[in-house]
Amino acid sequence: MFKLAIVVPCYNEEEVLGETSARLKNVIDNMVGKDKISSSSYVLFVNDGSRDLTWSIITDLHENNKVFKGLNLARNVGHQNALVSGLEFVVNKCDIAVSIDADLQDDVDVIEQMVDQYSLGNDIVYGVRSSRDKDTFFKKNSALFFYKVMRFLGVDTVYNHADYRLMSSRALKQLSLFQEKNLFLRGIVPLIGYKTEKVYYKRENRFAGTSKYPLKKMLNFALEGITSFSVKPLRIISIIGLISLFVSCVSFIYIIVTYFRGYNIQGWTSLMSSLWFIGSLTLISLGIIGEYIGKIYTEVKGRPRYNVESVLFED
Ligand code: UDP
Ligand code: MG
Repeated sequence: MFKLAIVVPCYNEEEVLGETSARLKNVIDNMVGKDKISSSSYVLFVNDGSRDLTWSIITDLHENNKVFKGLNLARNVGHQNALVSGLEFVVNKCDIAVSIDADLQDDVDVIEQMVDQYSLGNDIVYGVRSSRDKDTFFKKNSALFFYKVMRFLGVDTVYNHADYRLMSSRALKQLSLFQEKNLFLRGIVPLIGYKTEKVYYKRENRFAGTSKYPLKKMLNFALEGITSFSVKPLRIISIIGLISLFVSCVSFIYIIVTYFRGYNIQGWTSLMSSLWFIGSLTLISLGIIGEYIGKIYTEVKGRPRYNVESVLFED
């Protein structure tokens, strides 16, 4: 039977933990009863440097029932890092891990469907929101815009999927090989490969408390996602440089023509043509430097180049 670990990052979540723990325990009991998972399955709460009673609540939960386990981080490292710390912690301590937010916005009953999909041979199962009507207009549209921009920049992400997903232990092992410091899990998980599936659910309102992702954090997150997955912004500089070089040539012809026709003021010809020319030279130079920085940047990340799924090999 599979040993399931549910990993829950928590930052100042004292108001929701009681309810969250009860519902997750329910999910586990229910599946253990149906013989779908082993009775040693558990919930791991990762306390991401909360400043409220989150950790002492987790400690109490653990004392009352060993199905609840805790991982206490030394300080607030942000959602993505907290999640990864939890996933890396459980990698050799489970067969499958499901990550879910503490605030009950994601439907916990879908976990069973995820496990079913795993039994059917999927290593990664994405939880995808079928509707966003509970989100504000702003959040809905900014998320859609972000997704479109990521697509345009060539980053493969699953639309309307946050960090609610199931991963098998071999997918987790592969994930731990991505040693980059700028983490954007939604972009990394699709790079792992293996057979994947999606399950759909309705996104609810936060059970209690306020969002820990204010606009500033959201913008940071979006920029992180773009700059740690794409060197296109650097290439755009080179392209603008080439375009302005072209403009420089065209305007040079125009300027020469007006010069010979005698329409223009003295000094304008040389000023105008050098202005465009120098501008485009600067941009192209920056673009070339950018291309090299882009190479350094992809090298320095030291990502694994491939993931071997299985081998057929007998001596
Ligand atoms: N979270 C965290 N560290 C942080 C911010 C958030 O561990 O610095 C956790 C938070 O407790 C929650 C999840 O990440 O379980 C998602 O946060 P939230 O629900 O506030 O984000 P939203 O759903 O509004 O995007
Ligand atoms: Mg939330």
